[in-house]
Amino acid sequence: MPAKLLIGKAVTQKMDLDIQLDVQSLKSACINPKLRIIIVGDASESMAYANSTKIIAEKNGVRCDIEQLPETTNQLEFINILKQRNTDKYIHGIIVMRPLPKQINEWAVMYFLTPEKDVDCFNPVSAGKVMIGDITGFPPATAQAVMETLRFYEVPMQGKEAVILGRSMVVGKPLSMLLLDENATVTICHSKTKNLQGVCKRAEILIAAIGKAKMINADFVKPGAVVVDVGINVEEGRLYGDVDTESVKSVASAITPVPGGIGTVTTRVLLKHLTKAARLLNP
Ligand code: NDP
Repeated sequence: MPAKLLIGKAVTQKMDLDIQLDVQSLKSACINPKLRIIIVGDASESMAYANSTKIIAEKNGVRCDIEQLPETTNQLEFINILKQRNTDKYIHGIIVMRPLPKQINEWAVMYFLTPEKDVDCFNPVSAGKVMIGDITGFPPATAQAVMETLRFYEVPMQGKEAVILGRSMVVGKPLSMLLLDENATVTICHSKTKNLQGVCKRAEILIAAIGKAKMINADFVKPGAVVVDVGINVEEGRLYGDVDTESVKSVASAITPVPGGIGTVTTRVLLKHLTKAARLLNP
């Protein structure tokens, strides 16, 4: 039997309903949740992402402002702007789009975004909260989107062998903590992993986040595994995941598609984080 497709739309429909209820309840307490997305310079990819986030936010009753700073903004000016947004009581969540221009050192500025408004885990304090399981923190939206999807489709995680391909701070590492919290047994692979196919073939849940179009084929997949494709790769104008879906779907029991999978859930996670931040900031 071909693998079941774990479509993102079903997850986002449920999340939209929950977010809208939450926004209504905040508004009835005179709290208007507001997201601020900060972009430095003329980054067209960042702007496209910010605009699509704004559309989805507004459909859910959330205000989302995009603040575009000049390309020439220096590090001190950027830090001062972050400090002002941190203390603006009408802003509940802040996203800093990356990459930043070279005159702004990401490592130097990341600590200046207050963790209370850090809805996409920019400040290392937020990553630390994920590590210790502090529920006041905000995991990176993509890692959390994987968890939302697995939970929505009721994929059992406890005691399962989970293998994550990729060890970045936006996906692989935080996701390993989130899966551990669900009592999965977690292995992380990277570009130096030996016998990659063999390790992946142990997985009952296999998560690909490597940025290599269609690299993961049926040879990497244990029969019956659940495969989550986080990859977003654009080649000749077409979008591909890290998984070769055609090859894998005859072996796996379930798979997330690209497009229409994890990527669609990510924005809703940001909105969910925003309403949580708005509540925590207004106890
Ligand atoms: P990074 O480039 O930061 O990390 C890639 C990871 O994959 C690294 O740990 C790297 O290993 C590992 N890797 C690369 N090549 C191989 C290989 N041949 N074998 C094993 N491991 C390998 O990427 P991101 O984590 O930012 O993104 C990963 C993918 O997820 C990308 O396709 C990206 O576009 C997508 N993405 C999707 C999002 C969404 O919303 N759906 C959001 C964010 C990312 P090493 O550490 O050794 O270099």
